[in-house]
Amino acid sequence: MSTLIKNARVLDAEQLTTKDILIEDGKIKAIGHDLNQQYGAADHVICAADRFVTPGLVDVHVHLRDPGLTEKETIETGTLAAAHGGFTTIGAMPNVDPVPDTPAKIALMVAENAAKAHVHVAQYASITTNRQGDELVDFEGVKQAGAFAVSNDGSGVQTAGTMYRAMCGAAKAGLTLAAHVEDDSLTMGGVMNAGPVADKLGLPGIMGISESSQIARDVLLAEASGVHYHVCHVSTAESVRVIRDAKRAGINVTCEVSPHHLLLTDADITLDNPMLKMNPPLRSPKDRAALIAGLLDGTIDMIATDHAPHTDAQKSGSMKTAAFGITGLETAFATLYTALVKTRLLTLSQLIDLMSTKPAQLFDLDQAGRLAPGMPADLAIIDLDHEYEIKAATMLSKGHNSPFIGWHVYGNVLMTLVDGQVVYGKD
Ligand SMILES: [Zn+2]
Repeated sequence: MSTLIKNARVLDAEQLTTKDILIEDGKIKAIGHDLNQQYGAADHVICAADRFVTPGLVDVHVHLRDPGLTEKETIETGTLAAAHGGFTTIGAMPNVDPVPDTPAKIALMVAENAAKAHVHVAQYASITTNRQGDELVDFEGVKQAGAFAVSNDGSGVQTAGTMYRAMCGAAKAGLTLAAHVEDDSLTMGGVMNAGPVADKLGLPGIMGISESSQIARDVLLAEASGVHYHVCHVSTAESVRVIRDAKRAGINVTCEVSPHHLLLTDADITLDNPMLKMNPPLRSPKDRAALIAGLLDGTIDMIATDHAPHTDAQKSGSMKTAAFGITGLETAFATLYTALVKTRLLTLSQLIDLMSTKPAQLFDLDQAGRLAPGMPADLAIIDLDHEYEIKAATMLSKGHNSPFIGWHVYGNVLMTLVDGQVVYGKD
């Protein structure tokens, strides 16, 4: 079975050039001109008509909510949402019920993902039992059972001793430790960024040092343990500075930033609006500027959505009581392309590097992140040229909790292929 994608615009270094892509048995066979002359007619032809074809996007931070929280999302709906956003590989966080914290539970999750997902799912195990306390999971065992990394996402590891022992164990097992950084003794029950906006709205604030102080602790523990330490969703200027310094010192640290922290700030919170409630919270314009500077100088390695679907009821009412988190898989590429690439802050090639190549490389997902002969045919076909409005009605996630609904953007994903099969779009 062969498929030929005709007249695709593909990135060749920094330039978009028109080429054909030949897919055979789920893999990319060749990229070039007049491939049918060399290889004969394909069974199936997709006319890309000068649309951009990217290596499938890779998001190492996604909440599929399955098992246990399936009123918010399922493996099926979450991975369909991923395909709709151009993602072909995602990392599934372990804050589900039950928490995958044993080799047996990881083996079950890996099997469920393989049976139900529309895109490739790399599965996280938790760091500690039930994602709480100080009892570590069997890192060697969960790695053998198929976990690609460990994380307690949703909560910070509170004690340095537990974090150090976890890092030593993860390093020995060859697992990346992805940290949600949050010192509970500094969060003070906050629901948005601490500062003048929170004061004006009368809402309790979350201080930036609840994040940055734990990163400062962790980079030193990472240095001592030798683990690959990855910081989830950095949000403050101080966090970027600490990570920049740690990288200069040769510590094996990487980090991600979410689209919403690059696109919004607490200045956008003009009223008590749960759609703008997330953890970490939207920070100040000064923090946002530092995040963009961190992207440009390589301190921030990748973009990850922290896709966090909730039911409408859980995201209504006051920020004081609503759930933290917004969806992101279906809006990430278009919002970032529109706000960062069309404004020439980043090149298209830099954005694809941050959303596909770098996350694949740094998390050792060696079958993802590149459009090249021999690689799986995981790719997305995107219309970069026509403006459209982001609408809840077209979302495939169960969650419609996005502050980007109503935005007018460019970068519409028309079709997504995984292993050469169309998993989203019309043929
Ligand atoms: Zn998360």
